[in-house]
Amino acid sequence: MNIIKQTNNSVVISVDADIINTSSQVLTRIYRHQYGKYNLDISIGINILTKVSQCSKTKTLFQIVDTIAGNNPAEADFKGLRVKLNKTNIQDFISNANFRTLPHELGHMLGWEHPHAKALFESVNPDASSLEKILTEDQRQHNLMSQTWYAQKAGISLDKAMQLTEPQIDLLLINYKAGLLNKNYHLTGYLWWKKII
Ligand SMILES: [Zn+2]
Repeated sequence: MNIIKQTNNSVVISVDADIINTSSQVLTRIYRHQYGKYNLDISIGINILTKVSQCSKTKTLFQIVDTIAGNNPAEADFKGLRVKLNKTNIQDFISNANFRTLPHELGHMLGWEHPHAKALFESVNPDASSLEKILTEDQRQHNLMSQTWYAQKAGISLDKAMQLTEPQIDLLLINYKAGLLNKNYHLTGYLWWKKII
């Protein structure tokens, strides 16, 4: 269950998630493993699953996959209910060589769109909410929810392109209070999703 708590201007986001590994690389080889005299195990409130039937109906799903269109490191679909992670980038996520993709995909889970139009520099996303359309071009170039290529084309280093804006937080609170985030209906609401994994 993802919960957003607002106390005055303090906003706390709690995420509850599963990881399912349907790639040929098994994440547990890294974290459930013997290193010298040590038996390493992991418990971080995230379950590492290997079967769809083990998925929680009430949690966000991270799924490690063999390929993603365009060879992107990650992709959020089902309105952010699922975040697919490209297995070739897992090491980059762990080492923090890629520090931007995961927070960006979490943003999709929280209901934010790209503020810019698809494949169009210095543009506004026509499908974004009015609160996202009001971002200035400078805000778009520095925004976490802009795609990587957008910041790069603007000449902004990726560590400077991690910002969110007050209107985006407004949108998060409005959507959450109205029950318009994914409501944790989860993927079982999409009966056809099992066909694509
Ligand atoms: Zn995105």
